[in-house]
Amino acid sequence: MEKLIITSALTGNVPTKEMNPHTPITAEEIVAAIKKCTAKGTSISHIHARDEEGKPTARRDRFKMIVDQIEENNIEVIKQLSTGARAGENTAESRGQMLDLDVDMASLTTGSANFPNMVNANPPEIILALAKKMRDNHIKPEIEIFDSSMIANALYLEKKGIIKGPLHFNFVMNVRGSLPGTPKNLMFLVDSIPPGSTWTVSGIGKSQVQMITMAIAMGGHVRTGLEDVLEMEKGIPATNEMLVERVVKIAQAVGREIATVSEAREILSL
Ligand code: MG
Repeated sequence: MEKLIITSALTGNVPTKEMNPHTPITAEEIVAAIKKCTAKGTSISHIHARDEEGKPTARRDRFKMIVDQIEENNIEVIKQLSTGARAGENTAESRGQMLDLDVDMASLTTGSANFPNMVNANPPEIILALAKKMRDNHIKPEIEIFDSSMIANALYLEKKGIIKGPLHFNFVMNVRGSLPGTPKNLMFLVDSIPPGSTWTVSGIGKSQVQMITMAIAMGGHVRTGLEDVLEMEKGIPATNEMLVERVVKIAQAVGREIATVSEAREILSL
C-alpha cells in the first residue's frame, strides 16, 4: 500500500474557543498548530481563515497572513486553502479571492447538500468559476464529496477539461444533512471514483475513528483536526496534535507508513 497522507484541518468555519479552547483562530495560532502537527506526521494543512473578530472569512489578506507565516517559519507542508460556502458572501469572487496566493491545493465542493443549519450551496456557476481559477493558478483541487452526486459533477468537469486528472477526492462523511458516515457508504464512494484517483476521508464527529480506520486499512488517506471532531472522547477536548497522534497510532497498528511531504507530493502528482 501507498504511504499514508495525513491532512490536518485545524480550524474550519464552525469551531470556536467556547466549543474547544484549543481551536487555533489567529494566524499565529494556526501556524503554531501546523508546526506541531507536521512534526507528528501531517503533510497537508487544510487552511481556513478568520477575521479580526474570529469569524470565518474568505478575505485574501487573512489567508495571506497564514501563508506568509508558514513560509517565514520554514514549515514544510502542502498548503491547501478552503473555498467553502460558509465564509462570508456566497459568490465565486468572494470565495475564490485567495486563489492567486502561492499554494498547492484548494478545496472544491462539486455540488450542494445540507449543513446542519443551512444549505451547503455550491451552484454550477460558482463551482465552474472556482475550478477555472484553480486551473489558471496551477492549484490542484481537493474535490470535497458530501454526497455521491458530487462525484458525477467532478467527472463532468474533468471531461470538459476544467479539472485535470488524476483527481483527488475528500469524502466528507457524516455531516448532518449530508451522507452519513457508514462503512457501506464509504465503500460505495470509493467504488465510484475513477481508477488512478486518490482519496482521503474526513469522518465528522462520532464517525471519525471508524472512518479513518477504514481509510487506513483500505489504502486511502485521512484528514483529521478540530474542523472535523472536537473531542477525543466524551468530555475530553481534542487538540489538533492529539488527533494526528491518534491517526499515527492506528496506522502503525494497521501497518501503514506515514508519507513525508515530498512523498505526499508524489502520491498526489503535485
Ligand atoms: Mg474546510
